[in-house]
Amino acid sequence: MATLTVLGIAQDGGRPQPGCQRPCCQDLSPADYRSPVSLGVKTENGTTILIEATRDLGRQLITFGEPNIDHLFLTHAHLGHVDGLGLFGRETMSARGIPLHSSSSMQNLIKSTPAWALLLEQGVFELTEIGHVEIDDVVIESIPIPHRAELSDMHAFVLRGKKHSVLFLPDHDSWEQTLAAHNVPSIREWLKGLEITHAFLDGTFWSGDELQGRDMSVVPHPTIQDSLSRLGERQSGDPEIHFTHFNHTNPVYQEGGSEYQKIIQLGWSVSTEGQRVNL
Ligand SMILES: [Zn+2]
Ligand SMILES: [Zn+2]
Ligand SMILES: [Zn+2]
Repeated sequence: MATLTVLGIAQDGGRPQPGCQRPCCQDLSPADYRSPVSLGVKTENGTTILIEATRDLGRQLITFGEPNIDHLFLTHAHLGHVDGLGLFGRETMSARGIPLHSSSSMQNLIKSTPAWALLLEQGVFELTEIGHVEIDDVVIESIPIPHRAELSDMHAFVLRGKKHSVLFLPDHDSWEQTLAAHNVPSIREWLKGLEITHAFLDGTFWSGDELQGRDMSVVPHPTIQDSLSRLGERQSGDPEIHFTHFNHTNPVYQEGGSEYQKIIQLGWSVSTEGQRVNL
């Protein structure tokens, strides 16, 4: 049986976020540090699959319990999802011929970014399309998602094993746009149509209050409050939903807090590093 391990639950900036002088980052001990969002999958044959290449790869491979990666998948080009690509190169892992699965828009960006093009030239990665990819007992499907696309487009992934199927949607701009793009009226209907048992969903912000004067349109994400009001209580037949990709300001980092408790009371969950799902 394949196993999925959560390797990071923070937004791209990580926790603590560089330069933050507020209590959310100043009052942390190293045990509170969190890595940018990432998943590791080990198939029944022992093939290892990494979703997202973050700068915390060293720490994340220890959480994964695997020293090597056989396949890499990228959702999109924003900082925390790609800033570990260079770690596969000569200075660090000296990897060879790793299939790098991404959209054609992401592939064009890799080819036109000198530091990443060099990794291709040196044979570290082999660019491969996403879509429907079978690796041992795991199928990985990609789903186009509206998300600010300055650098590349964005794809969520559904990872299907023999028993369970997991949606990984760490970033999107709004439920209005995502649901409209898939022509469905509600989150519940969309997830039902995807035939998944678990979903890791964008939980970047609890509410708009966290931006402290910054305009939400610059970094658009549906808030957890918005997701909860659309979902309501978990109903029979619903998948497990685990929120992830938390901004450093997000109060759900506090397990005892009312925001965290609200998620639990409604029957949903907050993802944790090291969390496992048997696929
Ligand atoms: Zn992100
Ligand atoms: Zn902070
Ligand atoms: Zn993003």
